[in-house]
Amino acid sequence: MTETSTPTGAQAHHQSVLDQGRFLIQHCPDCQKHVYFPRELCPHCGAAPLNWVAPTGHGTVYAVTTVRRKAEAGGDFNVCLVDLDEGVRLMSRVDNLAPQAVRIGQRVKARVQVNEGRGLVVFDAEKGDAA
Ligand SMILES: [Zn+2]
Repeated sequence: MTETSTPTGAQAHHQSVLDQGRFLIQHCPDCQKHVYFPRELCPHCGAAPLNWVAPTGHGTVYAVTTVRRKAEAGGDFNVCLVDLDEGVRLMSRVDNLAPQAVRIGQRVKARVQVNEGRGLVVFDAEKGDAA
């Protein structure tokens, strides 16, 4: 068996950057739209390759739900869809508020949380906009 390629797709690249504590999204050089989740081709116009750019991290909660969990398992947490100002939507959670306090339309800021070497994008409610 011969090794012809290393696993370096867009998703693998995105995760390895996240694991270093950095959050990057993609930007299409042709149609100028931002792209997330990572892809090899622009989902809007099919162009490749896409560029990696750092988003501002600012976004707005589009939808939110509370996942109920026993206290001994870590307690309730929220799952939300956030629209970044760059125009892409991602699923995450808001970390600095009680799960039930997160509301649609809330302004949030992305932050990378690295746990045991694995990076994850979470959000904090922006100052002055906490419930
Ligand atoms: Zn494009």
